[in-house]
Amino acid sequence: MHCPRCENPLIILEINEIEIDYCTDCQGIWLDSGELELLLDDSEKKDLLLKSFKKYFETSEAKLKCPICSKKMQKILVDESEKIIIDECPNFHGLWFDKGELLELVEKGSLDKENQIITLLKDMFKYKINQTEE
Ligand SMILES: [Zn+2]
Ligand SMILES: [Zn+2]
Repeated sequence: MHCPRCENPLIILEINEIEIDYCTDCQGIWLDSGELELLLDDSEKKDLLLKSFKKYFETSEAKLKCPICSKKMQKILVDESEKIIIDECPNFHGLWFDKGELLELVEKGSLDKENQIITLLKDMFKYKINQTEE
C-alpha cells in the first residue's frame, strides 16, 4: 500500500494489536475501516466524536486517492470547532489522517489522556521531529 499524499510505501505498525499503516515521510496514517473505533476508548465521548463526523464540501484541500481502490476520497470534518479534516474512501475501505490528526482525534475521543495509544502516538511524532533536527 502507498501513501495517498506522497506515494511512499506505507509501513505497518502495531498498536494494541491493531495494525496501522504509517508513512515515514509525511507521517500520515491509514486506518482500515473499523480500526478507529478500536483505537478509541469505550466511552460516551467516543460515540459523540464519531457522530460529529460529517461530509465537508467547502474545502480547497486537495483530494487524495484511497490507497486500496484509488477512488477519490471524501473530506470529513470532525468536531466542527476544531477543524480537523480527514479523508474517507467512498467505498469505506478506511480513513486517512495527515500528520498529528489521529493523535488529536484520539485525545478528543478518550477520557484518559495518558492512555497507551496516546502515549505511543506522541512518541511516534516526537521521534520524527528529533530525527529532522539532526
Ligand atoms: Zn506520505
Ligand atoms: Zn477505497
